[in-house]
Amino acid sequence: MYSIAIVWLRRDLRLTDHAALLAAALRSDRLVLAFVLDPVLLRGPRVGAPIVQFFFDSLRVLRDELRAAGSDLALLEGDFGEQLADLARHVEAQAVFYNLDYDPAMRARDERVTVRLRAAGLAVHDSVDHVYAAAGDVVQQSGKPYTVFTPYRRRWLAAYEAGPRAPFDSLAAARGKLLPANAVGRTLAVPKPETYGLPSSARFPAGGLREAQRLLDAFVADRIDGYLDRRNLPAVDGTSGLSPHLRAGTIGIRTCITTAMRARAMRPQGARANIDGWIGELIWRDFYQGLLVQFPRVAHEPFIEAGKSLEYARDDAGYAAWCAGRTGFPIVDAAMIQLNTTGWMHNRLRMIVASFLTKHLLIDYRAGERYFEQHLADADLAANNGGWQWSASIGTDAAPYFRIFNPTLQGRTFDPDGAFVRAMLPALRNVPDKYVHEPAAMPPLIASAAGFVLGRDYPAPIVDHAAARVRAIEVYGTALKRR
Ligand SMILES: Cc1cc2nc3c(=O)[nH]c(=O)nc-3n(C[C@H](O)[C@H](O)[C@H](O)COP(=O)(O)OP(=O)(O)OC[C@H]3O[C@@H](n4cnc5c(N)ncnc54)[C@H](O)[C@@H]3O)c2cc1C
Repeated sequence: MYSIAIVWLRRDLRLTDHAALLAAALRSDRLVLAFVLDPVLLRGPRVGAPIVQFFFDSLRVLRDELRAAGSDLALLEGDFGEQLADLARHVEAQAVFYNLDYDPAMRARDERVTVRLRAAGLAVHDSVDHVYAAAGDVVQQSGKPYTVFTPYRRRWLAAYEAGPRAPFDSLAAARGKLLPANAVGRTLAVPKPETYGLPSSARFPAGGLREAQRLLDAFVADRIDGYLDRRNLPAVDGTSGLSPHLRAGTIGIRTCITTAMRARAMRPQGARANIDGWIGELIWRDFYQGLLVQFPRVAHEPFIEAGKSLEYARDDAGYAAWCAGRTGFPIVDAAMIQLNTTGWMHNRLRMIVASFLTKHLLIDYRAGERYFEQHLADADLAANNGGWQWSASIGTDAAPYFRIFNPTLQGRTFDPDGAFVRAMLPALRNVPDKYVHEPAAMPPLIASAAGFVLGRDYPAPIVDHAAARVRAIEVYGTALKRR
């Protein structure tokens, strides 16, 4: 038993359903929770304003909760090992507990920090928390990892049936053990994104553990039963909006799974498909996290070997148009405006814009992956890399290379009355429904009645869909048929 332990928070900004907090509470008399700001990461290319604002919001809420319990968050800045060792000296802690992070760069960091902390005489303990099933838990009978989702999901569900994992009772275990605020010592105020040269916006997703619980409760009470019908419609609030929360850990994955499974158990057999669909998405999340552990090379190269020989185009103008939402394809442009202004993008749209960048423009998926990383509040290496490699047909269980979304048809199917594109692209507000996903096809008389001039109000398409499709099938076919 330790007399005092530190719980080092990272992507787990909550108090309930928290593996490391529970482990620390069971093995220690007193606890202090710490978060270390890394100025190099915060000023570097791997993070953007929405995720930084989200983390800062969430730290503020967490601090409020700790203060309400008479304690405080030890908020530090600088080198992780030095800061934690200093805190340990100050509070006379003997151990540091943390939850594992599967990002290869973060794992390397954790190994370095662990060496430093052990050199300072501290015990270091890690826990599995961020995923429901740890990477090695759901594997084939041979022990090999799954690289195809459907059998993975089947095995994941069988493991669930065999022994569901309830949310960790961490808050109850830690209550009464938190160090009083005056013993926590030096602690910083939660900064603003501007401190690190990043803008804030009221349109970015709101962080915090209370908001996460509110979103989960509202989704399960009101919308989960319509999930399959509505999840592909960007104009509709059909999904949970929990992705930034699951990324920052303001809600625990066991809490989400348990809540959904409880709701499922209350439905008759024939009325469970929607909940199963949503649980399936949470299983995708585990699947991609596991892949990153089992195949860390996917962080920088295609999972499919043959994908390495793909001949990408150098198209700086095309890339700039894609980033700015100026491709002339309304659904693509509206999606990019959603990303650029709100820090989030609907899943159907992520698939459409990723297909457009990698197939229509033949641009390396890594450019799109990086752009998403810098602009999403939920930016997560495993899910982002998995989504991009899937869209570019070079990942595990990926979309076939000859499946090339027609952006105009995608728009008509999933935004039939153009409500979403009109909301994001005011220039299309008066364009009739029939042309809202293809303004370039509008006859001159109708365009002039709508007061719309192509090229002035909205760009002409930067590529011809049919020609781009033929080119993509040729280039991808040449590389991937070599498998
Ligand atoms: C190119 C591309 C890039 C993506 N990048 C990310 C990313 O950086 N971070 C991220 O969290 N998701 C990413 N996704 C997956 C998905 O788009 C988002 O998780 C989803 O849009 C989040 O909205 P929601 O919380 O309302 O989802 P819901 O539909 O409510 O789903 C519930 C949860 O399941 C998980 N989930 C859903 N779909 C997926 C998926 N395909 N893969 C993995 N987990 C999933 C998320 O944690 C999500 O919050 C990406 C998808 C694509 C195609």
